[in-house]
Amino acid sequence: MELSERQEIIIEIVKENGPITGEQIAEKLNLSRATLRPDLAILTMAGYLDARPRVGYFFTGKTGSELLTEKVKKFKVKQFQSVPVVVKEDASVYDAISTMFLGDVGTLFVVNEPGCLTGVLSRKDLLRASLGNQDLNNIPVHIIMTRMPNITVCRSEDLLIESAKKLIDKQIDGLPVVKDMPEGLHVIGRITKTNITKAFVELILDEQV
Ligand code: ADP
Repeated sequence: MELSERQEIIIEIVKENGPITGEQIAEKLNLSRATLRPDLAILTMAGYLDARPRVGYFFTGKTGSELLTEKVKKFKVKQFQSVPVVVKEDASVYDAISTMFLGDVGTLFVVNEPGCLTGVLSRKDLLRASLGNQDLNNIPVHIIMTRMPNITVCRSEDLLIESAKKLIDKQIDGLPVVKDMPEGLHVIGRITKTNITKAFVELILDEQV
């Protein structure tokens, strides 16, 4: 966040004199308390200053990058997850390709009859299966998918940064967001590199407000 010159000065005053009341800060700047109110609100919300009732403002000691890190660590998977696109295990490779196009996604999740996660299909998995002269209507996706237990998953309550790290470490484009059920894992969402990019943009644009 870009601080204004006046906000920087307020931080310096509070650093040296804190705890200090809004009234006293205003006096030092020859301004009215009302004029300072928005600046104090911004500095408090951004985490530079803290306010205690009947005591005043004090400096939290946090740097800009510490505050940014705190903000990123608050991002949860559930805030950014998208709707998953799934196919059944016995769907054909041809059907999966159609579903991938219609769903406008790059990763499909494969589920069994009770609706539990059993596999993942990437664009390249489907391209690979399409090489050669086989009839794609006759190849079920469970033959070519990456299967459980080798699937990397995440959960809605996980930190987004942990999921981003899994995408990098495993060199994959997407993760199913799963819910633990007695019969297995139900797919309730997906996190892809696009969701991470959106989070990144939101973080930076929010900072500029
Ligand atoms: P692409 O193969 O189109 O580049 P990915 O990098 O996402 O896309 O996939 C690479 C391989 O990893 C594929 O074989 C795919 O089945 C597998 N894969 C994709 N997502 C996962 C996941 N969440 N867990 C385990 N394996 C995955």
